[in-house]
Amino acid sequence: MKSQVGILLSTLKSPFVLVEVARKIVQFSFLVLFSSAIMGLPLIPLTLPILFSSGLPNRAVEEALSVMQKMIYDAVFPWLPIASILIFGVLSGRALCGWICPLGFIQDIMALGKTRKINVSSKTHRSLIGVKYAILTLILLTSISLSLAQFSEGGQLYRRMLEPFAQAPFTSLSPSDTLFSVFPRFLLNLSLSIQLGFNYPIITPLLVLRLIILIAVLFLAAYIPRAWCRYLCPQGALSAIVSRFSLLGLRRDPVRCIRAKCHICEDKCPMKVPILSLPREKFADPECIYCLRCVTACPTKAIKPIFP
Ligand code: SF4
Ligand code: SF4
Repeated sequence: MKSQVGILLSTLKSPFVLVEVARKIVQFSFLVLFSSAIMGLPLIPLTLPILFSSGLPNRAVEEALSVMQKMIYDAVFPWLPIASILIFGVLSGRALCGWICPLGFIQDIMALGKTRKINVSSKTHRSLIGVKYAILTLILLTSISLSLAQFSEGGQLYRRMLEPFAQAPFTSLSPSDTLFSVFPRFLLNLSLSIQLGFNYPIITPLLVLRLIILIAVLFLAAYIPRAWCRYLCPQGALSAIVSRFSLLGLRRDPVRCIRAKCHICEDKCPMKVPILSLPREKFADPECIYCLRCVTACPTKAIKPIFP
């Protein structure tokens, strides 16, 4: 019994567990902070490259991709979200994905379950990574075409036809928006209807579609860590384009690294970054979310973050 307690204590004290717990605390704290306006705290005028909820009336920050879609739709150059993506991307790569994004946090929680994780082959992984860029391209092309449409008479019809997707095509289906805004609002309306005898809120085909997407994302995250972030997230794709030029990076010490015998760093990486095939001096892989799991899992402490 005593030795089991000892093993548990030494596990809890390991740098891997300590950093993982710290990261969860940071992620949870930011989720609370982003919802702070609900608690009557003031709004923070900040646009961040993360996924939270642009539909929540009392949100504290804006999502860069949602703002970008709306600005393009209104024929305004999206300088604010572009500046945010550039600044955060150049300074810290996709660290916001690893430490702050609420949808990233929820996926990390889903991955804590005891489900048998699916090991996606490297070839399939490389092909699937491209899907998020295809989704991003589709979103931007749709927003640009809707923006241009307002200058012609036929275009107005096109804009009306694409309602309710027109203003922000991705946000209208975003699993993050469904989780943090649409579904809670639906439940709130439902409970008010039951208590006060109002008409029940309508379950629209769009709501059903949104819920199917959300459930699929959560289900996938339980079997493939950060599956949405790896393969589908258009905001992650935007951040990845910039993060390869990030000042923040990782370094692998070739003397300490016992590469032939161990692949622990790669095995622990939720984003399946091919760490051992990347340059040792510094790598800032577009898929890296700087969760530091590889840093703390390495038995010889061969990997370290570096800046710049
Ligand atoms: S890839 Fe998308 S969902 Fe994942 S952490 Fe980044 S912004 Fe959030
Ligand atoms: S390379 Fe390391 S820091 Fe980057 S995502 Fe993978 S485990 Fe996390």
